Amino acid sequence: MIAWSYGGGVQSVAIGVLIREGALPKPDLAVIADTSRERRTTWEYLRGIMQPFLSPLGIEIAVASHELARVDLYNSKNDLTLMPAYTEEGRLPGYCSGEWKRDVCERWLRLMGVKECDLWIGYSMDEIGRVSKKDHRPWCHYAYPLIDNFINRTMCKRIIETAGLPLPHKSRCWQCPHQNEEEWQETLADSIDGPLAIACDEEVRQNDPEKKGLYLHYSRLPLACLLPKWRPARKTACPCRLLVPARAVFVSINP
Ligand code: SF4
Repeated sequence: MIAWSYGGGVQSVAIGVLIREGALPKPDLAVIADTSRERRTTWEYLRGIMQPFLSPLGIEIAVASHELARVDLYNSKNDLTLMPAYTEEGRLPGYCSGEWKRDVCERWLRLMGVKECDLWIGYSMDEIGRVSKKDHRPWCHYAYPLIDNFINRTMCKRIIETAGLPLPHKSRCWQCPHQNEEEWQETLADSIDGPLAIACDEEVRQNDPEKKGLYLHYSRLPLACLLPKWRPARKTACPCRLLVPARAVFVSINP
C-alpha cells in the first residue's frame, strides 16, 4: 500500500503531476494534515487546481482534521509553545510539525484501516538532509519519490509549469516562525490570515510561562508593529519603531 502525504507546496504538486503523467504509481491514499492554521492559498490551490487535476485518476486528497492532534499551540507539560518562536536566547525547538502533521497523518491512516504502508513524503534533493533515518512508526515506512528520482526544487517547478499548472504559494501555517521576509509580507497583507497571525503572536507572548519574550518574527518585534511595505502606514504610534533592524524590509506602522 502506498499513502501520499500531500503538503501543498511545490514538491507535492510536482508529485501530483508525476502521478498524473504515469511517472509515479497511483497512491492508494492521499492525505493532507489540516493544522487549522494553514494559509488559505494552500486550500485554494488544492480545491481549485490540484484536486480537479487528479480527479480523473480517481485520486482524492483527504483532509485529516486537526482534531486528530493531541496538542495545539502548547506543550501539555509546561505550557511552552510548540512552535519554533524566537526568544532572547535563540529559537525554540519546533515540535508543531511532528504533532500537527506527521502524527495526524499517521492517526488518519490508522483510522482508514491501514496496517502497513509506504508513506510518500515530498522532500526534494535539496532537502535530503531532512530525510529520516528511521521510520517514526514500524508500520509506516517513509519513502521519498522525488529524492529517489534525483529531483530538486527547481526541477519541481519546471515539472509543474510544463504541465501547464500555476506554481503554488509556499504552504505553511500563517503564524509560522520559519517564514522569510517575503512570506511574512504576503501573510500580513492577507486580510484574513494577517490578523490571525498578529493575534497568535500576541497570545504566545501573553501565555509564555517563562516570560522569555516570545516572538514569531525573527526580528523579535510584535507582528502588529510590522506591516508590508506596500501598505499605507497608520498614524498610531508604535513604541518599537526605532528597534526595527536594518535587515527587516518591513516598515513600522508609525510613519
Ligand atoms: S508550517 Fe511552521 S508552524 Fe506550521 S507546523 Fe510547520 S513548522 Fe509548525
